[in-house]
Amino acid sequence: MNKFKELGLNEQLLNAIKDMGFETPSEVQEEAIPVLLANDTDLVALAQTGTGKTAAFGFPLIQKIYPDSRTTQGLILSPTRELCLQIANELKNYAKYVKGLNIVAIYGGASITEQASQIKKGAQIVVATPGRMQDMINRKMVDISKIEYCILDEADEMLNMGFYEDINSILSHTPEEKFTWLFSATMPKEVARIAKQFMHTPMEITVGTKNSGSENVQHEYYVVSGRERYLALKRLADANPDIFSVVFCRTKRDTQNVAEKLIEDGYNAAALHGDLSQNQRDMVMKAFRTNQIQMLVATDVAARGIDVDDVTHVINYQLPDEIETYNHRSGRTGRAGKSGISMVIVTKSEMRKISAIERIIKKKFEAKKIPNAEEICE
Ligand code: ADP
Ligand code: MG
Repeated sequence: MNKFKELGLNEQLLNAIKDMGFETPSEVQEEAIPVLLANDTDLVALAQTGTGKTAAFGFPLIQKIYPDSRTTQGLILSPTRELCLQIANELKNYAKYVKGLNIVAIYGGASITEQASQIKKGAQIVVATPGRMQDMINRKMVDISKIEYCILDEADEMLNMGFYEDINSILSHTPEEKFTWLFSATMPKEVARIAKQFMHTPMEITVGTKNSGSENVQHEYYVVSGRERYLALKRLADANPDIFSVVFCRTKRDTQNVAEKLIEDGYNAAALHGDLSQNQRDMVMKAFRTNQIQMLVATDVAARGIDVDDVTHVINYQLPDEIETYNHRSGRTGRAGKSGISMVIVTKSEMRKISAIERIIKKKFEAKKIPNAEEICE
């Protein structure tokens, strides 16, 4: 018996799921899908990154939308442009057998009039960053007064990024009698406040242990002197010729510099950060997704939530300022049950951050040595 069928999903979705090769629902899907299909309810769902949250709200949303009506019925707010595109594409895949369902992504850095005209043609589902959505509301380019389902995806991230005011204002333009589904990896005070303010006795689902990160990720650190950092990165890449990785830097400038040096030194690398044009960012993401780039050097904001299968290594070229961010970084690997390695290049003086992170992820790092040239040649 197909486990997805037992959750109450219809034929169109089941066929799409078969095409995608999903065999069994993930835990959050198993918990959320039947609840959302059977009830009209508000929902708060907490689950780590990489646990399949997109489908947990995407499947029920698609099944509940009326494709025959052209009004915008579902609004998904998500923190970054990359995520909006990713969610919209994923949803289009899920809805491939649903005739007449249009899904549009709305985000900054691309033509707003073009996006407005796509919505005008009739988009039942809109996936938007809070900033661009607010902009479109101000310009009366979008009508969200008939929204029935509002999804706040990666709510903790959106609030971290300072979108509280935008979210507040956007929700005030939606009808009172809608249903709000909030998905988040963690439940900081700000998220609890949003839930309290905008939701009516939501159902609650918590999957896995809070803040424990992915079970499949192994954590390693490499102590180097500050000057050796870049050399260490190259050695790690040389020692892992099949590496398919995201390399995190702290600033846009470092991100650009490290990527440029890697390219100069003959590595298959590219930079991803907020100073690139949207077009450049899309191209980089596409190349990475299709394995044409082995090392994606990125800032935290640009790489937030990016879901690319088979990332083998996350490399923390520099540790993040906020140690909580480490969880989001290492969550780029070890997705969908696969294993992954999260490496940290660290100087002696930064070592206390490692123990702080260990407390957060509730796992121990393995101390490793940068392989030397001979070891790599072997
Ligand atoms: P999250 O939003 O929780 O970080 P995603 O929704 O981005 O996670 O899903 C992570 C990855 O797992 C995606 O590549 C997705 O296609 C895949 N995935 C989701 N659900 C399943 C499933 N039931 N079986 C196999 N793979 C799945
Ligand atoms: Mg997600």
